[in-house]
Amino acid sequence: MDTLFASLDLIEPGDLVLYHGSLTDQHGLYIALPCDCYWCRVADKRAVKGSPETRDPRYRLINPWRPELTLRCARRESITRSTACA
Ligand SMILES: [Zn+2]
Repeated sequence: MDTLFASLDLIEPGDLVLYHGSLTDQHGLYIALPCDCYWCRVADKRAVKGSPETRDPRYRLINPWRPELTLRCARRESITRSTACA
C-alpha cells in the first residue's frame, strides 16, 4: 500500500468517503463536510494560533440515503476517500 499517497489524500467538502472508525455499526459511505459544531470551531481557532501540526480536522458525515443519520466530529483517520464515484 502507498501510505505516502494516502497521507496526501485530502478530503474536500462534499467528497464521498468510507467511514471505518470506532462506531462499527455506522460503517459505510457518507458525504463528508467540515464539522461545524461548537467544539470543532473552538479547536480550529486554537489550532490557528499554534503550529499547523496541531490542526486536527474533524468531519461531519452525512448518509446520502438517510440524511437524518449524521455522524459528527469524525477524525481524518476514521474515513477514507471513496473512489467509487470518481
Ligand atoms: Zn464537531
